[in-house]
Amino acid sequence: MAKIAVIGAGINGVMAARALAQAGHLVEVFERGAPMAQTSQASTKLLHGGLRYLETGDWRLVYEALAERSWWLEQAPHLTRQLPLLLPVYKGQGRARLLIKLGLSLYDRLAPRGWPKHHWWPAGKVLSAMPALSPHGLVGAFEFTDGQMDDLALGRWAADQLVALGAMIHSSSAVTSVDTQGRLICAGRAHQFDLICNLAGPWAAQLLKSSGVSMQADLRLVRGAHLVLSGAPEQGLLLQAPQDQRVFFVLPGMGRYAGMSIVGTTEAEQLLDDPIRISDAEQEYLATAFDHYFGAGSAQSRLVETYAGVRPLVRQSASANVNTREHHIESQGRLISVFGGKWTTARSLGLEVAQRAGQMLKD
Ligand SMILES: Cc1cc2nc3c(=O)[nH]c(=O)nc-3n(C[C@H](O)[C@H](O)[C@H](O)COP(=O)(O)OP(=O)(O)OC[C@H]3O[C@@H](n4cnc5c(N)ncnc54)[C@H](O)[C@@H]3O)c2cc1C
Repeated sequence: MAKIAVIGAGINGVMAARALAQAGHLVEVFERGAPMAQTSQASTKLLHGGLRYLETGDWRLVYEALAERSWWLEQAPHLTRQLPLLLPVYKGQGRARLLIKLGLSLYDRLAPRGWPKHHWWPAGKVLSAMPALSPHGLVGAFEFTDGQMDDLALGRWAADQLVALGAMIHSSSAVTSVDTQGRLICAGRAHQFDLICNLAGPWAAQLLKSSGVSMQADLRLVRGAHLVLSGAPEQGLLLQAPQDQRVFFVLPGMGRYAGMSIVGTTEAEQLLDDPIRISDAEQEYLATAFDHYFGAGSAQSRLVETYAGVRPLVRQSASANVNTREHHIESQGRLISVFGGKWTTARSLGLEVAQRAGQMLKD
């Protein structure tokens, strides 16, 4: 049994700590604020394979995430649900119907057996289900099913399970320095561990930098923002923004957002020292995209709140401007650092961290 520190109690830190505790290690989690108070409670709240990642050829990520989607729904049915989503097709706008059909067929094929398959709704059926949706040029919509969660509640549930496994979570315990020999500093005190796992999310690289530990990953920090509107849509929607054809979601909220609509997301560069909140330009972008489908001024008149989170995107190669949402793990001496990842795949990431830890402890 080894003594292992995990830095960060977002979903990735909690699920890595869980896998380490299940492997029989003595685990202590250091969290500078409260568990689940950062990125992990500011997501789009989808347990999904990520239909749009098929466009970038990330099939392996989609396959893995679709299996993990089912895992979360089986483990925590009280905090998750299947969510049917409509993907409307408008004449002469956005991606071609055939291309969408191909993508959804592949998405069905990559999903575990028994998951509902996509099908087509004619325009009349769409409009009787969603009378407020713009009818102009509407050809019909594909219905497909993904998973949805109450991210904050599900993350807290995972943290409670971790504590039940015997791990300790130290809240309000910022780690100010780590080294590759298993030593970390928290509240001015040095602590020695057999291994340290740095899962500080968007701050993981900053912690290494301020500790003088080098890293290989080339990261970009990207903010994603959401609008929360009063009134839930009759159906979840995946729409294409008229400004640039990027996809965005309009989802019925659950948990603390029940009875509301969640609209997002955006992609904007973020500096870690700046506050993580929606900019005027992002708010305008989302409101314009929403109003295109639901009528001028509708987003503003229903606005309840906004929220934003940051994801570290790992550049696949320093020369190419290509980013991936897959995680990247680095290890040096007695230190493992994780960059990136998705909420949906936090469990499999945790297992990978535990496997890497097992190898490092043997060496
Ligand atoms: C806008 C947006 C929407 C998303 N939507 C989805 C989605 O719908 N589905 C999906 O699967 N994924 C989604 N993701 C991805 C997913 O939310 C993230 O991958 C995941 O939440 C990251 O979790 P994390 O634990 O790595 O980071 P975080 O949740 O940010 O946790 C890191 C923790 O480390 C702590 N910390 C930082 N520095 C220190 C330190 N020095 N000492 C101690 N603690 C420290 C922080 O306080 C924080 O609690 C989305 C991401 C974004 C940004």
